Amino acid sequence: MKVMLNVPYEEKNEAKVLGAKFDWDAKVWYCEDIADIKLFNKWLNKTNVICENLYIFKMNRDCFRCGKSSEVVLLATDRSYALEDNYKLNINMQILTYLEWMPRKLGDYMEKLRYYPSYSKTVNASYYMNHCPNCKCTHGDHFLHEVPNEAMYKHLFYKKSAPCRYSKIENSFCLPIKARLPHYDEVNSSMELLMLHLTHEDMENRASLNVTQKEINKLLPTSIREEDIVISGI
Ligand SMILES: [Zn+2]
Repeated sequence: MKVMLNVPYEEKNEAKVLGAKFDWDAKVWYCEDIADIKLFNKWLNKTNVICENLYIFKMNRDCFRCGKSSEVVLLATDRSYALEDNYKLNINMQILTYLEWMPRKLGDYMEKLRYYPSYSKTVNASYYMNHCPNCKCTHGDHFLHEVPNEAMYKHLFYKKSAPCRYSKIENSFCLPIKARLPHYDEVNSSMELLMLHLTHEDMENRASLNVTQKEINKLLPTSIREEDIVISGI
């Protein structure tokens, strides 16, 4: 599959010489094959994962500030090529967190879902976050993804919770993204989760749920698929 490249106008000749092509309909520079990606590293914008499949998962969360319930989203992939794996195909389902960069057209779409970059004091950087539609406050990834009893764990993994909804993005290019990649089988529990587990015996958490890669791979079959998403130019 073609891989989207981010080639500035003034570098187009350099990219062309190396074999990059331009899709006139999508107005996108691309390389034909992931196997050649190292030639085009310069135009991957320091991204660390190239996603062939992308899904948007949706669930609800009560705002910690205004108390109103609203939809929060996350991006996940089950066909990806990570820099750390030497761009080898990975068909495990992976939830992407702390996203710092994505192609502009995808970013524009995600912004409509109130998912756009904001500054985080916790990590001293800006990354894509969910925002409350009512009070506009941020729902950072630490709270959504790393705290037991919070939206992501509750909706994705708790046995009693309703299944979450998802849509597949119909992309015709593999999309480079900069995000934190999970290592589910290596880290089953942070110290915080462990402490919470010890102090709240009845609380389901990542350790007690045994959230392994095998479990994460069941996300698609156990969730409700909604209409595919078409984003022009990706
Ligand atoms: Zn709010």
